[in-house]
Amino acid sequence: MNTYLVSVIENVKKKYAHEPEFVQTVEEVFTSLEPVIDKHPEYEKVDLLGRMVEPERMFTFRVCWEDDQGQWHTNTGWRCQFNGALGPYKGGIRFQANVYPGIIKFLGFEQIFKNSLTGLPIGGGKGGADFDPAGKSEAEIMRFCQAYMQALYRYIGPDIDVPAGDMGVGGREIGYLFGEYRRLKGAWENGVLTGKGFASGGSRIRPEATGFGAVYYLENVLRHEGEEIAGKTIACAGFGNVTWGICRKARELGAKVVTLSGPDGYIYDADGVVTDEKIAYLVEMRASGRNRVQDYADRFGVPFYPGEKPWGVKADVMMPSAMQNDVHMESARRIAANHVKYYIEVANMPTTNDALKFLMEQPGMIVAPSKAVNAGGVATSALEMAQNSERLVWTAEEVDRQLHQIMDTIYQMSVEAAREYGLGYNLVAGANIAGFKRVAEAMMEQGVF
Ligand code: GLU
Repeated sequence: MNTYLVSVIENVKKKYAHEPEFVQTVEEVFTSLEPVIDKHPEYEKVDLLGRMVEPERMFTFRVCWEDDQGQWHTNTGWRCQFNGALGPYKGGIRFQANVYPGIIKFLGFEQIFKNSLTGLPIGGGKGGADFDPAGKSEAEIMRFCQAYMQALYRYIGPDIDVPAGDMGVGGREIGYLFGEYRRLKGAWENGVLTGKGFASGGSRIRPEATGFGAVYYLENVLRHEGEEIAGKTIACAGFGNVTWGICRKARELGAKVVTLSGPDGYIYDADGVVTDEKIAYLVEMRASGRNRVQDYADRFGVPFYPGEKPWGVKADVMMPSAMQNDVHMESARRIAANHVKYYIEVANMPTTNDALKFLMEQPGMIVAPSKAVNAGGVATSALEMAQNSERLVWTAEEVDRQLHQIMDTIYQMSVEAAREYGLGYNLVAGANIAGFKRVAEAMMEQGVF
């Protein structure tokens, strides 16, 4: 193993032992880069890798908000401006009780390479708060978002840092965040946030972009195997925006999603989440704030498996699309035993590193990494930024066409990068290498800081 690479990874392990998710992603990405680092000894002198694992800056701030009973609460907010070599920092905001710097930094680090893969001018960043939106009223959510923006607004801007949604932050929250930014700045800078509602300058197709993009990527993988998407069964996790987009695009192309999951368990719908009513119900379940997938089973009379994950079902394609570290070694063994051929990550880092390695070693199994598969979301955010800066609105067809093209290019670049470094058809290493190369080139051009 390359000694410089090893020393950077070891240092991160020691220094950030208290941020295990961040250590996990650094190890996963950097391990793939060995042939590239071997080929570029000049990176060591300027400590390119050591600089890449340190955020350019990261803010921590207090967020105080009042509940409907007049009680005040205090949460912590963060924004990590991880790497701005390619453009304004870009990445979502996550509101979830378990958020802490290790989660923000893992997401921010992934975002650098994902954003690079899109080929668009966006750097990597991420933010969030340890706020639990479950069970909060509409007014409480609005007050929390306003308080969050009061702390954040001085650090962001259309050319500086452009947040978007992530878990717990959807179109509604982005609307409140944007309203507060506009009030504070007294200016129509709608390029400061993406994922806005259409009336506030949002882009067509942004809500469905991550799911659509994931299915476009899947089609590329299937084509490589001489197969078609029509007739395929897909096991998904989660029931949020991303899964909703996958269900819609899969249905359009003749495939069907048969599982959904939540913190309470998973449902199995043998007919597929394919009718308008079922697909619309996903949006309703998410908006209810109940965070329960059992509601779907009750409504449509399909089996519900409390406390379980869907990784033991038989399906042609697995698409973990809920959250990080959802698939552990035990689930990976079940997936392999079921001879699932396509393991397509969608959520950010849904697989533990040992499970990912195990799945990649299974003969005949094809593994695709989330940073490529889910990049359509942030890519469409960049298209929203482009429309905002042009003060124009593109049609849904135009945005979808560009999204489709970007996903095809990401797939091809990943395939070519792995081949160039003698790694064969390795979509995981290929995405890491292709994403890394562009960031490294920009950092080398811009000098050491
Ligand atoms: N949170 C999403 C992601 O993980 C979207 C980020 C964005 O649109 O900026 O990529």
